[in-house]
Amino acid sequence: MKKVTSLEPEDASKIEESVGEILEMIPSRVWNGRSLPIPVEEIAREVYGLRVCRVSHDQMKEVVGDRITDGTLSGLLLTGIGEIWINEEEAAHPEWGPQRKRFTVGHELGHFVLHQRGPAAIFCRSDDADEGLGTEPTPRAIPEVEANTFSAALMMPATFVRAEMRDGQSDEQSIAALMARFQASDKATRRRVETLRVID
Ligand SMILES: [Zn+2]
Repeated sequence: MKKVTSLEPEDASKIEESVGEILEMIPSRVWNGRSLPIPVEEIAREVYGLRVCRVSHDQMKEVVGDRITDGTLSGLLLTGIGEIWINEEEAAHPEWGPQRKRFTVGHELGHFVLHQRGPAAIFCRSDDADEGLGTEPTPRAIPEVEANTFSAALMMPATFVRAEMRDGQSDEQSIAALMARFQASDKATRRRVETLRVID
């Protein structure tokens, strides 16, 4: 399968647009359209009817079988039963667990919105081998990059990030501020800022 590190700009823009439409449709009891961080898990549950469950890595492995041979599974989407499974060991990590969990829920929701068709299917998110080592992205199959793009756009909506970036801070100060505002990891935040500089 063809692997890429980023989408063609027009494909990325389409995902940005559909996330923009989704954010506008969210009922105000789930999100008021202003507050941060974006309640990714509540959106999956209340808007899409998906249950978000913490599950051990062994249980996840049992479900995927031989489809994934190496790397850690961060999340799974089981469309048949409408569940998103989150790696409970990762989610419990004191430094990056909550941010990773948010991104993984967004990723699986991206598969649900963009890719689920026909019979029940399983989608997964496997570990970023390069997590924490700069922003150089790992080549991945296109649906995986699409799901990551969806998650980043949902967690860090373009208009909100641009509004936060305008106050003349240095890059490092802004990254730290954005991470705190959006409850996103260092790497996801840096990638989001780079993407928004490119697509403008
Ligand atoms: Zn995936």
